Amino acid sequence: MTAGHQRVAMKTPLVELDGDEMTRVMWEMVKNKLLRPFIDLRVEYYDLHLKHRDDTDDQVTLDAARAIMKYGVGVKCATITPNADRVREYGLKKMWKSPNGTIRALLDGTVFRKPILVKNIRPFVSSWKKPIVIGRHAYGDVYSAAEARVTGPGKAELVITPAGGGKQERYPVHDFTGPGIVQGMHNTDGSIENFAEACFSFACEEKMDLWFSTKDTISKIYDGRFREIFDTAHERWKERFRSRGIEYFFTLIDDAVARIVRSEGGVLWALKNYDGDVLSDMIAAACGSLAMMTSVLVSPRGYFEYEAAHGTVQKHYYRHLKGEETSTNSVALIFAWTGGLRKRGELDGTEALAAFAGKLEEAALETVEEGVMTGDLLAVAEVKPGNRKVNTEDFIDAIAERLRDKLRG
Ligand code: NAP
Ligand code: MG
Repeated sequence: MTAGHQRVAMKTPLVELDGDEMTRVMWEMVKNKLLRPFIDLRVEYYDLHLKHRDDTDDQVTLDAARAIMKYGVGVKCATITPNADRVREYGLKKMWKSPNGTIRALLDGTVFRKPILVKNIRPFVSSWKKPIVIGRHAYGDVYSAAEARVTGPGKAELVITPAGGGKQERYPVHDFTGPGIVQGMHNTDGSIENFAEACFSFACEEKMDLWFSTKDTISKIYDGRFREIFDTAHERWKERFRSRGIEYFFTLIDDAVARIVRSEGGVLWALKNYDGDVLSDMIAAACGSLAMMTSVLVSPRGYFEYEAAHGTVQKHYYRHLKGEETSTNSVALIFAWTGGLRKRGELDGTEALAAFAGKLEEAALETVEEGVMTGDLLAVAEVKPGNRKVNTEDFIDAIAERLRDKLRG
């Protein structure tokens, strides 16, 4: 029961994708303590728990992606991408693909990852003054590659068979003299064009310089095509960039890494799928904690999917299962919900919903800034007398308390 404030209504449901392990535990707490007491939460629920994905032969993941395409906005909890250990642990029928990979392959789009900054945590890189946003292409490459073990001597080739007949093209990959491995990746001009467009548009909106980096000196055709498409997009956006006083800059990926570390920040760094996966974790960790990074998938067809950038926090979950106390940070999960609710509010014209999202974010940040923190943050925050470490649930309770005060005005 809550007194002293109006409950916030929702017009259209959010598509909710539940997940695994410690994030699943926190997800439920966030809903029960930070959302349901204040808003009439409407969701279309899909359970992406690994066991349920297995039971449904991963149909639930496809259904969830289609629901996002129907309603426009989804929020997703972190999920296990099974490997051999997980197949054993959960007794799975097979090693199902990454749900994020499946969803991104359907929605296409670009993932923007932005660190959540608080006043009492300084980035490890002392030159960084402003956030570094990663724009990660969320389609193709290694995430939807075909790969195979080569068991003995033999020839591996890339073969392109034109639709409707025509001559096959063959490209030698390797002449194996013994066992090995081989992989074939793809991307499409259309998806790369959408990626470039999303990045130029995001940079304009946020008035940030845009950097793009690949390794086109080595991968002359694959990475080279990315660079060409970005150059073409730049021609279209040149004037808009000039009028906002921002720049587009291409450099090789290794050079970009070195420059980022020496920069002030405040740039949107556009990266191919794998580079973005790896470097967004580096940026998040350098800004304090993996749990302080938001992530949104922006599809060119107008769909949005919000999530935390981190995984299911497996190690904490095993401690939780043993009945030990955990101090796991829920900030990025909370920001996944607020991102989704704000976008839903904007699309539906329900201002109260967007305003609620803003208040919840403030409550979370102020809680940390007041010194009430989970272990990951306490380890990197400025040392102050009032600082105290709280457990997973008490952290969420502290945010709820502050939120209640804010809503009472
Ligand atoms: P992870 O869940 O991101 O956790 C790695 C480590 O980072 C944790 O052990 C913990 O460090 C710290 N950490 C991450 N989030 C935290 C939080 N909210 N609060 C406090 N500390 C946090 O990565 P992982 O352990 O490599 O992966 C676990 C599972 O997540 C895997 O099965 C993987 O497939 C999945 N995964 C899913 C997604 C997704 O759904 N988007 C993304 C990545 C990984 P300490 O142990 O030092 O405290
Ligand atoms: Mg990653």
